[in-house]
Amino acid sequence: MTADVIVVGSANADLVVKVDRRPGAGETVLGGDPDVLPGGKGANTAVAAAKLGARVALLGAVGTDGHADVVLGSLRAAGVGTDLVRRVDAPTGIAYITITPDGENSIVVSPGANARVAPSDVDSSVLGPMLVGARLMALSLEIPLPVAECAAAVAAEAGVRVVLNLSPVARISGATLSTVDPLVVNEHEAGWLLGKGEEVDPRRLLELGVRSAVVTLGARGAALSTMDSPDEVTHVEAPTVTPVDTTGAGDAFTGALLAELAAGADLRAAVEQAVRVAAISVTRPGAQPSYPTREEL
Ligand code: ATP
Repeated sequence: MTADVIVVGSANADLVVKVDRRPGAGETVLGGDPDVLPGGKGANTAVAAAKLGARVALLGAVGTDGHADVVLGSLRAAGVGTDLVRRVDAPTGIAYITITPDGENSIVVSPGANARVAPSDVDSSVLGPMLVGARLMALSLEIPLPVAECAAAVAAEAGVRVVLNLSPVARISGATLSTVDPLVVNEHEAGWLLGKGEEVDPRRLLELGVRSAVVTLGARGAALSTMDSPDEVTHVEAPTVTPVDTTGAGDAFTGALLAELAAGADLRAAVEQAVRVAAISVTRPGAQPSYPTREEL
C-alpha cells in the first residue's frame, strides 16, 4: 500500500477497569469488569487518521500472543497498513488503565514488544521505499528514543514532513527537533520542556528549534504557534462536552491533525479539526473505538 502518513510508534493492548477511586499505596480497591481494547500511541494515532480517510501505515512491533491479534485486528479494520509491524519474541505491550467516574485515567505502560523496535527497523533501506510518495511521518515515544531520532532523520532526508508527539516526554536532540513541524505536546509535557513554573506558551516551544508547536489544553482546546509568525499564538477552543473517558484523546488529536495535513490543510485548520475530533473521542469509551469516521463528522 502507498501511504500518505507513516506512523512510527507503539501498539498496545489496553487493559481497562473502571474504579470509584484509585487505590493508595498498599491499598486494594474493587473495580468493574475488565475490558481488553486496542491501544498504544502509535496505533491509536494511525487508526484515528485512517478513520478520517488518510492512507496510513504503522511501523512498530507486537508479540505472538493473543493481545497482538487485538491490536492488529483493529489496525486492519481501520485500513491501516501493517506490513511494517514486526512480530517479535516478547509480550505485546500493555497499558494498565484505571478510569474514575469523571472520565480521567491513570495509566502504567509495560512496553514489551515496543521496546524491541530498533534503529535498524527505520534505516533508509527499510523506510526509504515507504517514504516514496508519503507526505508525513508521525513519531511518538512509547518506542526507544534512538528509533524516533533515526526515523526523523531518514524522513527529513527524504523531504517528508515530521510530526512529533513528544509523549511520554523526553530529552530529544536539537538535530531531531529541527526536523519537526509541528511538535505536539500536552500541558504537562510542555511544562516539563519549558521548566517548572513557566507559563505554557507555544511560542516558547519554538525556541527549541521546531518549525511549529501545538499545545493541547484538555477541555480548553489547543494553542499553536509557527515560525512564520513566531510572536503570535492562536488559541482554538474545544466544544463543551461531557467526558466519559479521555483515554487516547491526545492520540485522536494527533491522528486528526495528520489526516488534515495530509489532505493539504494548513496547521490552523488542522488544529481546528483535531479539537473537534478529540472532543468527540472523550464522549465515548476506549481509545480507538471512540474515534469518529469522516462520515460521522
Ligand atoms: P490523553 O492523555 O487523555 O490522551 P492528553 O493529556 O495527551 O490526553 P489533552 O490536552 O488532555 O491531551 O487532550 C487532547 C485534546 O482532547 C484537547 O486538545 C481537546 O481537543 C480534547 N479534549 C480533552 N479533554 C476534553 C474535554 N473535557 N472536553 C473537550 N475536549 C477535550
